[in-house]
Amino acid sequence: MRILITGVTGMTGSHLAEYLLRMEGLEVFATYRWRSRMENLEQLKKAGRLSIIGDSGTMAIASDSESVLSDRIQAASLNLVEADITDPFSMKHTIAAVKPDRIFHLAAQSYVPGSWSAPAETLNRNILGQVNLLEAVRETRLDPLIHIAGSSEEYGYVLPEELPLKETNPLRPLSPYGVSKVAQDMLAYQYFMSYGLKTIVTRGFNHEGPRRGEVFVTSNVAKQIAEIEKGLKPPVLYIGDPASKRDWSDVRDFARAYWLAMERCVPGEVYNIGSGVVREVGEMVDMLLTMTDSQIEVKMDPSRLRPSDARVLIADATKFKNATGWEPQIPFEKTLRDLLDYWRESV
Ligand code: NDP
Repeated sequence: MRILITGVTGMTGSHLAEYLLRMEGLEVFATYRWRSRMENLEQLKKAGRLSIIGDSGTMAIASDSESVLSDRIQAASLNLVEADITDPFSMKHTIAAVKPDRIFHLAAQSYVPGSWSAPAETLNRNILGQVNLLEAVRETRLDPLIHIAGSSEEYGYVLPEELPLKETNPLRPLSPYGVSKVAQDMLAYQYFMSYGLKTIVTRGFNHEGPRRGEVFVTSNVAKQIAEIEKGLKPPVLYIGDPASKRDWSDVRDFARAYWLAMERCVPGEVYNIGSGVVREVGEMVDMLLTMTDSQIEVKMDPSRLRPSDARVLIADATKFKNATGWEPQIPFEKTLRDLLDYWRESV
């Protein structure tokens, strides 16, 4: 079975690739960009399990892309194709060459605050990027299962009586990122209804762990602690709103969840994935501080506050759990400890 992951150089994509490569009988392909940071694939590279098989442009020029691929793919490796989701030709050539049976569409501008500073770019990348992918599938007349990584940010503003959030809750996004994810969600539905594309949408609540981008709150706090431990910065930890609440899971539990979504969920449907446990940012900071011997002062930094924060997002993942049997396995303490250790090695 052929798998294609978009966004493999990101946190979730890299963990998903490692998860899939532990299975038998899969040929795993993934897109990257010429400018992608490749650190998250370093472990696969060190293990000799990374293979760059070409770019979507030259694969399209080859008269028989299947034979080009057959020559180049390495079993048990992650086979990388250079492609950009914002380019329709790039996506068409990639899909035509790889001919995936299953697509995990993770590529996105994934940083909520970044969507306020560059709303048009976020909407373009996330919405039109997905249109390019879905149109490429349609044009090539393939029939893969397509996983779309939606987000809890689609719910945005929620009323206390609506918690925990079910899939039927109104969507009131509070950021351009949230709007882009609502559009991705709706596009998946529309392509399923209009053309029968087998899209499965998950609305993921926050997931964290090693390789989380440093702009995200858990990773940012862990990185600051690692820097303080090494004497790279004064012992002052800057945070945004400590009362902000999140439903955090481990990214490795999410990799497993995404695979199960493809195995057991129903195309055309949408599923929440989350722990159902709510924690404050301040609690997460305190947990990380118990893991260091450094004496650290915590200060609030107003520049880290969001214009409109989706303050409480708790998942009701009953529908997903009933469909797949998924349960989170990794305790939050381990997620944070692994994240801190990741930064201790990286800074
Ligand atoms: P990351 O930001 O870590 O990864 C994003 C990936 O998308 C990177 O590989 C990036 O590649 C790729 N990408 C961005 N733009 C393009 C483009 N134009 N063409 C091709 N690839 C591109 O995100 P996560 O791993 O955290 O998230 C994965 C998905 O899950 C995203 O869609 C995100 O919105 C969604 N999600 C994440 C949640 C979380 O808590 N982590 C919660 C809910 C949803 P490059 O290295 O080249 O920049």
